[in-house]
Amino acid sequence: MNPQEIIQAEKQYIAHTYVRPPFVLTRGEGVYVYDADGKKYLDTAAGIAVNALGYNDPELVKAIQDGAAGLLHTSNLFYTESQVKLAQALVEKSFADKVYFGNTGTEVVEAALKFARKYHVERGDTARKNFVAFRGSFHGRTMGSLAATDSEKYQAPFRPLMPGVSFANFNDLDSVRAAITDETAAIILEPVQGEGGVYPASDEFLRGLRALCNERGALIIFDEIQCGVGRTGKLWAYEHSGVAPDLMTVAKPLAGGLPIGALLMTDAVASAMHVGEHGTTFGGGPMITSVALSVFNRVSDPNFLAHVTETGNYLMERLSEINSPHIKEVRGRGLMVGVELDIEAAKIRTAGYAHGLLLIQAREKVVRFVPPLVFQKSHVDELVEKFGAILAGVQ
Ligand SMILES: *Cc1c(COP(=O)(O)O)cnc(C)c1O
Repeated sequence: MNPQEIIQAEKQYIAHTYVRPPFVLTRGEGVYVYDADGKKYLDTAAGIAVNALGYNDPELVKAIQDGAAGLLHTSNLFYTESQVKLAQALVEKSFADKVYFGNTGTEVVEAALKFARKYHVERGDTARKNFVAFRGSFHGRTMGSLAATDSEKYQAPFRPLMPGVSFANFNDLDSVRAAITDETAAIILEPVQGEGGVYPASDEFLRGLRALCNERGALIIFDEIQCGVGRTGKLWAYEHSGVAPDLMTVAKPLAGGLPIGALLMTDAVASAMHVGEHGTTFGGGPMITSVALSVFNRVSDPNFLAHVTETGNYLMERLSEINSPHIKEVRGRGLMVGVELDIEAAKIRTAGYAHGLLLIQAREKVVRFVPPLVFQKSHVDELVEKFGAILAGVQ
């Protein structure tokens, strides 16, 4: 099919839940993707913070080939080595004692909500069914995770959602104090909000939250689906503050571009769940976990993480040097950076295509940079040059 035929057929056969630009991507190499006409784009989006190792990475391709040729799928009715090894690696490099595997982000958020409730049920505290989430949050699109996602547009047509979620203000401990009750099962938040506009939680806020939850008997769920696995220059975003959660969701980059979700938790939480109380057909399959183990081993290497920090700092620095009246703020951590504009980010995103730049936004006025973690300084230079030119050309 030629590009026009593909675009036409998409309109005919695919449910219209997305808008897409008028070209068709066909391949990727390093941190670049190419469309059907051979046009090259620098990728600052990485499939929404997913392709940590970029495209056509030889080691990743090999891991996928080996995984596919080996045991493809078995269901969770059987033991497999790669599932256990990935869980061990995640546990050894985090606060967690145990792992539950799913297939996507929203699915492990859903699991986190269930596990948190079960923790309290198991302790005889059956009133604790509620959750506190935050303004600007994004946790997914299923009925539980959507209930914790602060978006009237996403929620409104689908109510009733899971009841019992209240929203506090991000980085505002007093508003959490006002929202938390003796019926709060857990507080759920992203240590760096992604979709909401790239807002890092302050270290003091997370420390205060931990103390408050300990005092009030509520659990903490960190959603590190976007900010975890090296994105902020530390393996986990929570490490910047030194505050550990009780549960943590991980997904997007964990298998380098293949779908996976993982819920990490303490033994105290895990011990509340018994055989048959939760499950999945595909989650933690041998092929996907063998690929994820290969990705995780590389990304968690201290040298790799130091590269992310250095490149991220350079990106922030270079973006801050752009002299444009449209830039209101540059913020973020590592290679998760938001540029707040005084104009619609969609306009900039569209202009990016003509300049050979793939951009994504967060909310209306923030351009969000979440490139492959293998981004080099030369790529930052190219990004900044193009982004600056686009801003300079805005009417
Ligand atoms: C993307 C995202 C999700 C949802 O993950 P899916 O894989 O799209 O279901 C949840 N939380 C955060 C913070 C995310 O960025």
